[in-house]
Amino acid sequence: MKTIQHWIGGTLTTGASTRTAPVWNPATGEQQAEVLLAEPADVDAAVSTAARAFEQWRDASLSKRSSVLFAFRQLVNGHVDELAGIIADEHGKVISDARGEVQRGLEVVEFACGIPQLLKGEYSDQVSSGVDSYSFRQPLGVVAGITPFNFPVMVPMWMHPIAIACGNTFVLKPSERDPSASLYVARLWQQAGLPDGVFNVVHGDKVAVDALLDSTPVEAVSFVGSTPIARYIHERANANGKRVQALGGAKNHAVVLPDADLEFAADHLTAAAFGSAGQRCMAISATVVVGEAGDALVGRLKEKAGTVKVGPGRDEESEMGPVVTADARNRIVGFIDSAEQQGATLVADGRNLNIGKGFFVGPTVLDHVTSDMEAYRNEVFGPVLSVTRVDTVDEAIAFVNANPYGNGTAIFTSSGEAARRFQREVTVGMIGINVPIPVPMAYHSFGGWKDSLFGESHIHGPEGIRFYTRAKVVTARWPHVEHTVAASYHFPTAT
Ligand code: NAD
Repeated sequence: MKTIQHWIGGTLTTGASTRTAPVWNPATGEQQAEVLLAEPADVDAAVSTAARAFEQWRDASLSKRSSVLFAFRQLVNGHVDELAGIIADEHGKVISDARGEVQRGLEVVEFACGIPQLLKGEYSDQVSSGVDSYSFRQPLGVVAGITPFNFPVMVPMWMHPIAIACGNTFVLKPSERDPSASLYVARLWQQAGLPDGVFNVVHGDKVAVDALLDSTPVEAVSFVGSTPIARYIHERANANGKRVQALGGAKNHAVVLPDADLEFAADHLTAAAFGSAGQRCMAISATVVVGEAGDALVGRLKEKAGTVKVGPGRDEESEMGPVVTADARNRIVGFIDSAEQQGATLVADGRNLNIGKGFFVGPTVLDHVTSDMEAYRNEVFGPVLSVTRVDTVDEAIAFVNANPYGNGTAIFTSSGEAARRFQREVTVGMIGINVPIPVPMAYHSFGGWKDSLFGESHIHGPEGIRFYTRAKVVTARWPHVEHTVAASYHFPTAT
């Protein structure tokens, strides 16, 4: 059985780890590897290696940093297929989707290539007689990323290219369910000329995470994962005086108005609900359909759910792969069972899809879902689309806003007036107008509201630069005979 090790200081290491977790192949249901689970001593080793590397990397010139970023971009771009294969094997998503994930991660690398421009400070000449003032931003030090299983390349890339470009050093604790992609990325960083110790990977579970949250040299923590863990990470890291951004789970609604192109809406909802087997934080999992659009939309969703090609991720024909583990499949099937018991109508039922021993659940559509049903109240994180029927746009907006999550939402309409009202009134961070999965490009920032984000900073884009740096403002005078100003006991004011 292959053992997946940590990557510390530019080499693979077992360190003090003796515990392991299984890594499954979700398409076959077989265990394909085991991953080491770090002990606090392993986390200490990674953090102290990163702290030593920071002493040099903080002083690397902007052109040196951007040349490493450009080389890294070239290498990732040249290895998209290898990375996509690793993702498909451990996560289960289909190859085309995995390639898309790498592509979206690359966008962040490309954004970070512009670090000399992004870190430009501000300068005010002559704020007082003979006095100038300027501000610039400096790296924090060692920063940590703790990431979920569902985007093993893209989500870490929301963090490390920007953190490293800003001059920080990085310790990544990826999901123990699909750990291999991070090691592949670590090697690409090394080949790109990044000094050893700037990017480190420790695998593990709560033990490793807690050690990172309690580690004194770790200045900032970026987390992406489920809401209960995001809340916990935010509280504990904050209590330890760290800067923290913790992105949580989601329940993303699509509102469909009667004036929408229903064929277009149904096509896009099907892809947004069942792509990656619904295991995206921006997946549409709840549709709110207004008035007479209801029956026409549900009829189309039923038909389209039945045509999704489900199969192993490695099969280029597959449109949807398995879910990540047997536990995930059982949890998802449990939510479908409960919805049926609580009175939802099963329009499409994916519970009995068997493809070998893989962890498959077929596309499922639930109609007449109400807000008290378990399948609505919880993040199902599987290929299950619920439909709730309402009579008016007001009711639709109120329904979306009553949900505790606020990651993404979409409206399907041909009315600019309705769309504008929706974008202004929904309490959600990312909004699509006839766009079902409105994931912002890397030069904007990504983040939800309410229980989908703890901390004030969204991730990547301009907010990423601010998160991974702190500002300095300098007020400078070079006294000489003409400009000598007498010292004063007054609070300084401009003269
Ligand atoms: P998860 O919360 O179970 O795990 C995320 C990370 O936290 C992993 O590295 C894991 O090892 C660690 N972890 C798990 N339990 C822990 C504990 N008790 N203490 C400390 N650390 C712990 O999430 P997941 O199942 O890997 O990923 C799916 C979730 O992530 C979904 O809720 C999804 O919505 C969310 N997600 C959100 C976004 C976003 O941008 N908001 C993006 C991707 C995924």
